[in-house]
Amino acid sequence: MKFKIVSKGDERSNSIKATMKQYLTEFGLAYDKEEPDLVVSVGGDGTLLEAFHRYVHRLNKTAFIGIHTGHLGFYADWLPSEMEKLIIEIAKTPFQVVEYPLLEVIIRSKTGGKEDRYLAVNESTIKTADGSVVFDVEIKGVHFETFRGDGLCVSTPSGSTAYNKALGGGIIHPSLEAIQLTEMASINNRVFRTIGSPLILPKHHTLLLKPIADRSFLITIDHFTKTYANVKSIQCRVATEKIRFARFRPFPFWNRVRDSFVAEDGVDARLKDK
Ligand code: NAP
Ligand code: MN
Repeated sequence: MKFKIVSKGDERSNSIKATMKQYLTEFGLAYDKEEPDLVVSVGGDGTLLEAFHRYVHRLNKTAFIGIHTGHLGFYADWLPSEMEKLIIEIAKTPFQVVEYPLLEVIIRSKTGGKEDRYLAVNESTIKTADGSVVFDVEIKGVHFETFRGDGLCVSTPSGSTAYNKALGGGIIHPSLEAIQLTEMASINNRVFRTIGSPLILPKHHTLLLKPIADRSFLITIDHFTKTYANVKSIQCRVATEKIRFARFRPFPFWNRVRDSFVAEDGVDARLKDK
């Protein structure tokens, strides 16, 4: 099996990376930056997002796993103290895989030309640096509302605990193939009216955002931001691709949600086990 380790770059993550690389190589696994079967991300959730985008072109061949060196992560859910256990598990391959849905974003330009397609693990947001965004929002080809406000966020189920949560969106279990649309400060008065509630769309239901005023947009895909002018439409739906996580022990999504947002005792209990 071929593996690659991506580090956040701080001293602690780099040292875990070096140790794991050495042990796994000694176990006979090959370090391969280009075509890894397994990518180990050492750092935080942001590190895993970066690792994902680096190998986004080979999702059906690369699985991911995350060790967190900061606070508890959603994608980085192995502790540095569990490193030896994880090394042995990885060396014993094959591993089980858990798949999470992704968001597909297609940006089309008014000037024609090739469309841009992105996959997001967490979400895509659409904002502008000048004033507010104004969009016609279509769902499955039917006009739903005209949105005016700071922006919109379209998130995946696993991204629902990230930006989406801060916007008042619901937390969706990643076994549900869906995307969630949340508003950022919509203007609601007698002229503009939006639903206000987060919307959850199932697979095959396409969301289309059509800018009304000509503005330059800031479109984020997970941790990176792109600027677009002359946008004709932004299309969002559940992607056909999925992100695959290598799974060596159960750590249910709801436990991660509880440990991150509600109670510390879950984390403490896990630490005591070691
Ligand atoms: P960052 O500024 O470090 O990320 C913000 C926080 O979100 C970090 O604590 C990060 O964890 C955490 N996070 C990332 N994915 C998560 C998930 N699926 N569930 C729960 N928490 C999650 O920037 P970054 O690390 O490059 O991450 C980019 C993400 O930041 C975006 O995808 C977006 O979701 C999020 N974000 C959130 C807000 C907000 O809540 N108001 C605003 C902008 C962006 P780590 O520290 O472990 O990396
Ligand atoms: Mn981060």
